[in-house]
Amino acid sequence: MQVTFLGTNGWYDSLTGNTVSALITARDYDIILDAGNGIAKADRYISQDKPVFLFISHFHLDHTEGLHTLVKFRFRKGLAICGQIGTRADLAGLVREPYTVPLDKVPFAVTVTELEDGTHELPFRVTCLPLVHPVPCRGFRFEIDGKVITYCTDTGVCDNAITLARGA
Ligand SMILES: [Zn+2]
Repeated sequence: MQVTFLGTNGWYDSLTGNTVSALITARDYDIILDAGNGIAKADRYISQDKPVFLFISHFHLDHTEGLHTLVKFRFRKGLAICGQIGTRADLAGLVREPYTVPLDKVPFAVTVTELEDGTHELPFRVTCLPLVHPVPCRGFRFEIDGKVITYCTDTGVCDNAITLARGA
């Protein structure tokens, strides 16, 4: 397993890097965390031959502005986008003409799954809980390949971040 930080800048790109995106390369899946401009570099690190999951923490543009580059990818096992309740409507508002190629016209299959807060088997186990941010934002805890990886971005200190991170 490998974790690659594709973008770590908040708000906007700078000489130090792109806006937010990270990649977990697991045995059977590639898992992308957020879709800031860093997501455009994902194909440097993955074969695109495994199922790809994209978890969106929230819809601030520095976490979603890279969605317009999805059309460049060739995810041969498809892309499963996961996020909090309301993700489907927010995606439909953002990833559409005339701004970019809509998800139903990219050259691979895309599914969108809205996750209630709590634990889900996706087939790997993921727990999502709300964080502290001006807009609804979810943190994620992944249990996969015998490891625990927690992704809590854009939050103040809160009990949920601690719950998600325990033992990670
Ligand atoms: Zn934010």
